[in-house]
Amino acid sequence: FIMRSLFILIVFFMAIQLHAQVSVKELTCENLINPIGIDETSPRLSWKLLSTERNVMQSAYQIKVSAEKNNSLSLVWDSGKTPSDESILQPYGGSALQSGVRYVWQVRVWDAKNKESEWSERAFFEMGLLSANDWKAKWIDPEKDIDSLKQQPAPLLRKEFKLSKKIQSARLYVTSKGLNEMYINGKRVSDNYFTPGWTSYKNQIQYFTYDVTTLLKSGDNAVGAILGDGWFRGYLAWANSRNHYGTKLGLLAQIIITFSDGSQQIIGTDETWKATSNSPIVSSDLYMGETYDARLEQLGWTDAKFDDSNWSTVETKNMFEPQNCKLVAPKGQAVRRIEELKAQKIFITPEGDTVIDFGQNLTGWVKMKVRGTAGTTVTINHAEVLDKAGNFYTANLRAARCEINYKLKGTGEEIFEPHFSFFGFRYARIKNYPKIETQTLASLRDNFTAVVVHTDMPKTGEFVTSNALINQLQHNIQWGQKGNFLDVPTDCPQRDERLGWTGDAQAFVRTASYNFNVSGFFNKWLVDVATDQNKTGAVPFVIPDVLSKGKSQTSAGWGDVAVIAPWTMYTVYGDKRLLERQYPSMKAYVEYIRKSAGDSLIWKNGSVFGDWLFFHPRETRHTEADGFTDQDYIATAFFAYSTKLLQQSAEALGKTEDAVFYKILYNKIKENFIQEYFTPRGRTASDSQTSYVLALFFDLLPERMRPNAVNNLVMDITSRGNHLSTGFLGTPYLCHVLSQNGRADIAYKLLLQQTYPSWLYPVKMGATTIWERWDGIKTDSTFQDAGMNSFNHYAYGAIGDWMYRVCAGIEVGTAGYKHIIIQPHPTDSLSDAKATFNSNYGEIVSSWKKTATGYTFSIKIPANTTATIKLPADNMNNITERGEPLKNYATKLENNSVSIEVGSGEYIFETHLQRG
Ligand code: BGC
Repeated sequence: FIMRSLFILIVFFMAIQLHAQVSVKELTCENLINPIGIDETSPRLSWKLLSTERNVMQSAYQIKVSAEKNNSLSLVWDSGKTPSDESILQPYGGSALQSGVRYVWQVRVWDAKNKESEWSERAFFEMGLLSANDWKAKWIDPEKDIDSLKQQPAPLLRKEFKLSKKIQSARLYVTSKGLNEMYINGKRVSDNYFTPGWTSYKNQIQYFTYDVTTLLKSGDNAVGAILGDGWFRGYLAWANSRNHYGTKLGLLAQIIITFSDGSQQIIGTDETWKATSNSPIVSSDLYMGETYDARLEQLGWTDAKFDDSNWSTVETKNMFEPQNCKLVAPKGQAVRRIEELKAQKIFITPEGDTVIDFGQNLTGWVKMKVRGTAGTTVTINHAEVLDKAGNFYTANLRAARCEINYKLKGTGEEIFEPHFSFFGFRYARIKNYPKIETQTLASLRDNFTAVVVHTDMPKTGEFVTSNALINQLQHNIQWGQKGNFLDVPTDCPQRDERLGWTGDAQAFVRTASYNFNVSGFFNKWLVDVATDQNKTGAVPFVIPDVLSKGKSQTSAGWGDVAVIAPWTMYTVYGDKRLLERQYPSMKAYVEYIRKSAGDSLIWKNGSVFGDWLFFHPRETRHTEADGFTDQDYIATAFFAYSTKLLQQSAEALGKTEDAVFYKILYNKIKENFIQEYFTPRGRTASDSQTSYVLALFFDLLPERMRPNAVNNLVMDITSRGNHLSTGFLGTPYLCHVLSQNGRADIAYKLLLQQTYPSWLYPVKMGATTIWERWDGIKTDSTFQDAGMNSFNHYAYGAIGDWMYRVCAGIEVGTAGYKHIIIQPHPTDSLSDAKATFNSNYGEIVSSWKKTATGYTFSIKIPANTTATIKLPADNMNNITERGEPLKNYATKLENNSVSIEVGSGEYIFETHLQRG
């Protein structure tokens, strides 16, 4: 404490000396850039301070918010000069915000020596429809007497309307049961896909807001919609299972047009709309793919003056169950087409198939250009891998057909992309492409690209080292995230599953938060975690829950996402409001376990999935030799961990009674756990890697037992020739436990291990994403069981967290990275490593490079934060910063590590091994 205070004083004085010029940039509202259609009634505003100087701190801020109405601004809130060093997530504090109004805001700050910045540039946020009464439109049902057990054509809906006055602005608010694609006057309204996203539809459904001002015109206009089955009633949760949320598709949309005279007109869905099932999208399903008959296209159907006399009327009566489903605004980014990848090569397989290789396993679809005669059907299938013989392999997709059938209209060049399906693939097989025999394969390449589709989360992290295999691993982790962050965190994107498996998300959430800004993504998903939580407190296996059928079920390490993910959002983004909102759900989960475990506090039968997919060469029997960990042991360890995180959350939220209660509970669980599962000398009943990892990472052992536990873990690893044996639950913490206990050397051996089982084994086998199993492709190049063998499952990518946090050394000091710990762990097995992380305060960089005499550490700390930098050195004289000794810093030497307290700025430290 004394050191920190001293340091803050030093920073303060230096700031006065330096006369730092600060500017304010990158304004966000609820972690989003200029969001439109939000429903937070007291949205939180964030900004970043930029300065070329060191030690820049904010001492006060002023925010001004004005409502934009009729082209003029009227002030609704002036915070005044507010003494505060907080620059993230500051709540709006003015008068009540109104539906549909855009608010423009600016901020300026004062630095530590009370010098003010310029006002920032203007940013805005716009409110959505805040009350049910704002909705004038009615749900409409476009279909007549259909059998929803079978796939149906995607219905088209339309309406024409006239606008007679000058348009000033217009918004479309839209949601649907099933997926929607909206058009106005022939143009697609937005670049969002798979709207309204997947939520627990029985409780809430998102509506999206679009600025459609420029799409409308005075005179005749038309609006059109296409609806797809999507998650609402399409195939979901394994083959043949459909209609999870309902049997009827529906659309709810309203355009609010504001004219320059201030008056408004609303065009909403109602009984005047027309619909048809005579749609070119003959069938369309997330798993199965799309059949599209271009000959059925109705030219101009989303334009005015289209003849819809043979279209039908729509139903507006009572067909939507359940009635109580809330309409909510999105909290995160939408799903978008993110990039297009060129076909790398086209070739003929030994079985004679024509196959395109896009060079990357990805989630999305193929965009195809084609010319040919009307009625020709081109078929595209998707696969992640080729088999040993080089043939197209789809057995691991199980019942997901993942097939496109495109029937040409034959009118010249046709370009096709599917509407309501996505696929996990690297290879595409093309059948019946016109004139394929007469064209050279290479010339076909330009006719196909892979469209990469996922939630449009801003990229925040990069990690690079001198080792190409590790860099490929990092690439695979990021692509695993892209492929499985399509509106909800899924296990995999390809087979008939693609569900929000809680355990996978739990294992990966921290890594995910380094690579991309996932605050909005998890903010949205965690609402469903809480609403789909059973009333007993049990957290279902998947969220949105389509499996439990109301049964109270959970599995240790899966259900814990309810605690671990909100805590991670608080840690990484400083999001206290989210933590507060989730707190009842976190507590209900821990209470559920407490009741299930009873007085013994040993949670029997709490684990259904165990340490899922741990290394086990023998299929028939589990022994410690194959890495098996007792399941009640796992359940009790997670019980303790979630209790501890709940206690920390209670502390952060000022819930003192709870904090005390859960601290006592945690200590009791620990005691019972040790008695039940540990020998006095620190051997676990299971003696597996995961058993040591969980006990050590969750801090369940008394100090005296830790060294032996660490030794046992290390012995197990070395006895396997430096190989891991952990599954989904042990893997994320394995290297952390080693580096926390002075064995980073072993962690690096595991990380750099190239033979099975290891992280680099799939890389060596050509993986471009993270595999579900350590041996998805076995050493003899045959596949693991097709029943469960995804090549895009992010869980094992959880090592990414260790790479950022320990290898490069970017660690949270206090919530949101307000205080940062930089503690790199250089190793002889790499010559350099560098991580960049764009925190809510700004960019943090930590990199190290081996030199002839030691290491160079280049570090960047964003303005308005402080950092403790811990570098390996056994003598203060052996460290310099840009050639100068460290006398201007508060420092401390301890256990061969020098701690240096710094403020913001860029630093270059050099350590020299033998000097002092
Ligand atoms: C999923 C997993 C999931 C698991 C539960 C699998 O089918 O793909 O990733 O966590 O089931 O054991």
